[in-house]
Amino acid sequence: MKPAPFSYVRAASVEHALEVLAEHGDEALVLAGGQSLVPMLNLRLVQPAVVLDINALRGLAAIQPHTAGGLQIGALVRHREIAVHPMVAARAPLLRAAAPWIAHPAVRHRGTLGGSLALGDPAAEWPACAVALDATIRLASRAGGERCVAAESFFQGLYQSERRGDELLVGCDLAQPSHDSVFSFRELARRHGDYAAVGLAVSACGRPGAWRTLRLVFFGVGDTPVRAIACGAALAAGAGLAEARAQLEAELEPRADLWFSAQAKRHLAVHLLREAWRDLGHPTAGE
Ligand SMILES: Cc1cc2nc3c(=O)[nH]c(=O)nc-3n(C[C@H](O)[C@H](O)[C@H](O)COP(=O)(O)OP(=O)(O)OC[C@H]3O[C@@H](n4cnc5c(N)ncnc54)[C@H](O)[C@@H]3O)c2cc1C
Repeated sequence: MKPAPFSYVRAASVEHALEVLAEHGDEALVLAGGQSLVPMLNLRLVQPAVVLDINALRGLAAIQPHTAGGLQIGALVRHREIAVHPMVAARAPLLRAAAPWIAHPAVRHRGTLGGSLALGDPAAEWPACAVALDATIRLASRAGGERCVAAESFFQGLYQSERRGDELLVGCDLAQPSHDSVFSFRELARRHGDYAAVGLAVSACGRPGAWRTLRLVFFGVGDTPVRAIACGAALAAGAGLAEARAQLEAELEPRADLWFSAQAKRHLAVHLLREAWRDLGHPTAGE
């Protein structure tokens, strides 16, 4: 199938892009890597009046240090760049660990961080990592300037987010990890490169049995990334794996998909919790 007719606009600047979005709102769709948008256009799942190509906006394609040692990643940064950038390895090792799990090299060379966050696929890696890292998502509009939204409140439902139709997602900010930060990224997929059946992104500060913060975020289990709050709180309070597992089973309500029942997803989630438990340095005797 071919896309329905649309007007193509290549943004010459962020201001130009915001003008177009202000004029057309939901009738305009941003083209970043095109790895999700182009198939959606071809299948006529979306039929925008305007496709706004932002690929010339080089200012959105940078990874740079942020205040207080954190990291600022522009919306147009490709998955592949995140996988290999030394500053990401040093300041956001969770992203480094997650990147190879996204699709295949061809998709990773085109797909962007901003596209993945804006799309908000519930089985995608970046949205879960953004929530686990307590990232801030930056949105810009002609009417409102720039505003920041915590990743945890950005994802509102299945492919639904806080982003308004007149807003461009311009970047994502991450805080500097502390000296005792630990991360774990685990994923199970039918084949490597497929979207996750179930995945788990974890960010923690402290040490086993005495975590100051611990954010466990599952993906592939609901309409958005799902934070296992009770399970994380139990681990932070020094609970063993059995208790953490019981908390997880009580709070997680996985949604079946084409291949996995809810029960199978719950089973896989528990398996990933056990693996993350080890990654975080808990003694295996406590399993
Ligand atoms: C075969 C295949 C396998 C894949 N497997 C995975 C996988 O395992 N995990 C995974 O996470 N992804 C996977 N993807 C999706 C891929 O990661 C996409 O790159 C990503 O979802 C969207 O990024 P994009 O830059 O291509 O965005 P696009 O396709 O250009 O856009 C996606 C959506 O976001 C909007 N958008 C894009 N950028 C912005 C912006 N800056 N501001 C506002 N709106 C914006 C677009 O209008 C569109 O609605 C796969 C894709 C393919 C084709």
